[in-house]
Amino acid sequence: DTSHGTVLYLEDITVSFDGFRALNQLSLTIDNGELRCIIGPNGAGKTTLMDVITGKTRADSGTAFFGQTMDLTRMNEAEIVQSGIGRKFQKPTVFEHHSVFENLELAMQADRGVWATLFARLDSEARDRIADTLQLIRLQDSADRPAGLLSHGQKQWLEIGMLLMQRPKLLLLDEPVAGMTDEETDRTAELFLSLAGKHSLMVVEHDMAFVAQIAKKVTVLHEGSVLAEGSLDQVQNNERVIEVYLGR
Ligand code: ADP
Repeated sequence: DTSHGTVLYLEDITVSFDGFRALNQLSLTIDNGELRCIIGPNGAGKTTLMDVITGKTRADSGTAFFGQTMDLTRMNEAEIVQSGIGRKFQKPTVFEHHSVFENLELAMQADRGVWATLFARLDSEARDRIADTLQLIRLQDSADRPAGLLSHGQKQWLEIGMLLMQRPKLLLLDEPVAGMTDEETDRTAELFLSLAGKHSLMVVEHDMAFVAQIAKKVTVLHEGSVLAEGSLDQVQNNERVIEVYLGR
């Protein structure tokens, strides 16, 4: 069985909007523990790709498997989240009036509701998990601060921490370093490198310096298909990629 190390397997995925193919027979495989960057010009299909993986948009045709057995084309959004795919949109969405710690707590117990969560006593294992996550996202000194007082970069890390509380196997991240300072961007690169291995990451990103910091393998999308795949160096020197980005 060749798909043993595969977390995401997409083959010939097509999505049309009024006859326009936002994804056109797209095929893509991501290995367990891999950190993959997805790049491509506006309109290439990056958002639609993430929408298909998370069940927000249905593919018209094609195959989409999460792990060995989970057929994403037969699952709804909630089932896909439950099965271990977490998505982070570009804008941070944290509970501004709750503390950093409470945000992580709420995320861990998302199915229990706000009040049940805040009045329940956390067992020591839950406390340890939150403490570990706080350290990972470098917010251990801000645990008691309202999330609304964090910097933009810190809010982004908190939201990543909130996703991690749900123990995702695959994380989809949309332009995670947009709006970050250089220092925050460097820290985010460290965070992602430390998450890879334990989790699989798919990162859509325009910031090539950041891509260079994190990615072993880059996929270039264009007009709904994979134009090129390989190391950043390989794809940047690919003639078809140069044509698409620089024009003829
Ligand atoms: P990217 O994220 O790479 O910029 P998108 O996936 O957002 O690309 O879009 C791919 C193409 O599909 C674009 O041409 C876009 O206009 C079109 N598109 C995306 N979503 C819809 C929709 N809901 N209805 C119609 N066209 C759409």
